[in-house]
Amino acid sequence: MQKGNIGVTTENIFPVIKKFLYSDHDIFLREIVSNAVDATQKLRTLASKGDLKEEAGDLTVHVSINKDAGTLTVSDRGIGMTSEEIEKYINQIAFSGANDFLDKYKDDANAIIGHFGLGFYSSFMVSKKVEIITKSWQEGSKAVKWSCDGSPAYEITDAERESRGTDIVMYIDDDCKEFLEESKVKDLLNKYCKFLPISIAFGKKKEWKDGKQVETDEDNIINDTTPLWTKKPSELKDEDYKKFYRDLYPMSDEPLFWIHLNVDYPFNLTGILYFPKVKSSLELQKNKIQLYCNQVYVTDNVEGIVPEFLTLLHGVIDSPDIPLNVSRSYLQSDSNVKKISSYISKKVSDRLQQIFKNDRKEFEEKWDDISIFIHYGMLSENDFYDRAKNFALMKDTDGKHYTYDEYQTLIKDNQTDKDGNLVYLYANDKESQYSQIEGAKAKGYSVLLMDGQLDAAMLGLLEQKLEKSRFTRVDSDVVEHLIAKADSEDTALEADKKELIETVFSSQMPSIDKVEFHVEAQGLGETSDPIVLTQSEYMRRMKDMSRLQPGMSFYGEMPDMLNVVVNTDHKLVKDILSKTDSATAEALKPVNGELAGLNARHDSLNAQTKDKKWDEVDQSVKDDLSATEKKIEEEKGKKTSIIAESAKDNAVVHQLIDLALLQNGMLRGESLARFVKRSIELI
Ligand code: ADP
Repeated sequence: MQKGNIGVTTENIFPVIKKFLYSDHDIFLREIVSNAVDATQKLRTLASKGDLKEEAGDLTVHVSINKDAGTLTVSDRGIGMTSEEIEKYINQIAFSGANDFLDKYKDDANAIIGHFGLGFYSSFMVSKKVEIITKSWQEGSKAVKWSCDGSPAYEITDAERESRGTDIVMYIDDDCKEFLEESKVKDLLNKYCKFLPISIAFGKKKEWKDGKQVETDEDNIINDTTPLWTKKPSELKDEDYKKFYRDLYPMSDEPLFWIHLNVDYPFNLTGILYFPKVKSSLELQKNKIQLYCNQVYVTDNVEGIVPEFLTLLHGVIDSPDIPLNVSRSYLQSDSNVKKISSYISKKVSDRLQQIFKNDRKEFEEKWDDISIFIHYGMLSENDFYDRAKNFALMKDTDGKHYTYDEYQTLIKDNQTDKDGNLVYLYANDKESQYSQIEGAKAKGYSVLLMDGQLDAAMLGLLEQKLEKSRFTRVDSDVVEHLIAKADSEDTALEADKKELIETVFSSQMPSIDKVEFHVEAQGLGETSDPIVLTQSEYMRRMKDMSRLQPGMSFYGEMPDMLNVVVNTDHKLVKDILSKTDSATAEALKPVNGELAGLNARHDSLNAQTKDKKWDEVDQSVKDDLSATEKKIEEEKGKKTSIIAESAKDNAVVHQLIDLALLQNGMLRGESLARFVKRSIELI
């Protein structure tokens, strides 16, 4: 028998393990099982080289629970250890600067375990005593038993063990009894060991017999030793990928696409990424990709390794070249990791390009589902934008798809404005913007449907990227002015008639909280709508943005400024005009006469001040000027009330205003009831 102290330079390693690794408890099993797998793989290598004298035999690793003894045991038939090897690999743990390091990484068990090669010692996180019973593969080796109860003292004694290999026997701590539960251990194995490259058995397979589940003689193998990503893509069928996806994410719908990653230079990386089908944005979840290192599960937090926008994908990545035993911040600055990240991004765009090219129809059918990933990528990564712009699609309101280039060609002739800007018209709600969409289409314009989550951001990006291009929502102006073709021709209407009709309508607009109406009379042609509500693209975008950016609350507090365009060419408006004209002519005569005189006076006073500085103007002239202006305002006020008085009872005016509000979803409550009543009366 040999006794000694474990070679740690710090006082005592075990409290450290328990204290600092507490949160990540579960991984001890991964560490112990993967050590067993390593030892087994080494044995296989020896056997294949012909160095092994005996038969390799069944190499299954067994995990077993003994509730009576309170132990959890992991047994392998790998290379085993001689007592010298135990001394070297288990007893001597180089352990310098430990406290500093532990302080820094106290929340990152992976880093600690990796840094110190503490894999084996993580068993002490859950055990009051651990035994190693092992026999080396080398001829003539004797079995030995190492045992340690959580103090730095260990014991090595001779042991009985028939065959080559190692048992790690963990005497589970009283406060960790859950690790003696079959269901708990099963869960852990399923999480961490599901794809280990050597068969892992836990208990026996069960079958139904006479209405009961009974154990069979067959080992219950919990892992798949050759998971799909380790196989050659050329040997796999679609169904294989779909099945693997179902195994990984039993609750998810069938994936849209997948990408099989496979590189061996300048780094090793394999994996399969899936584009999930998400029913709503609420379902978008990060951290569904699992990261493996040689088939050992490491984490499902791939931030920093995979480009941010691809963390929304599902699947697995396996790489021995990702330095896992370091902190996340280090990981993100590691140049190898950066290369991996940009490789994955490129691979994803290549694959999308390929699907687009080979099966455009399928690509279009799935566009609604994948666009969120592609747009996110385009918005967050310039390189990805440059590649994706060749296969990213735009969809019009009829559901037809175009690439950016195709769409540009389509609208070039008809939708270029007088300044040479290409105007992309879009709607973001097919229902509420129905009439504006139809109006634009009647003019031969194409209207895009941009109702996706990221579309608002996308159109901003596209305006930057596409030269001389502008996005305008279909309801941001009357259709005649959506795309300014030539400098707008003057409407034939004289100024006073124009003013009259504007006053009729503005005096009757309802007052709505936080909404301001600006009425303008325009000649839009006889067949166009009599009245249209619009909101300028600029104002709307500013308000939308102010909702997201705190510094812009100025815009947010401004009322909605809506333009009310009254079409003076329309028969109904013409009728209103002539009716109001004759009803008010008499009353307006004196006011207009007065106004004409006042305006003339105002002009002549202005002429006197024209070439002078304001200080040099006579006080009497200044006084006269302001008195005249005041009178003009008064007369204008009189004029407005005369017109308003006549418009007040004009049912057609109210009906037109209500129709415009209705089209924009702004007619509610009492106003709506009044509208319905008036409509019936008019019928
Ligand atoms: P690491 O695996 O990172 O080297 P560990 O603390 O997990 O660190 O293990 C230390 C060493 O102990 C291993 O490198 C290996 O040589 C030896 N060892 C651990 N478990 C076994 C086992 N089941 N069979 C044979 N050797 C083992």
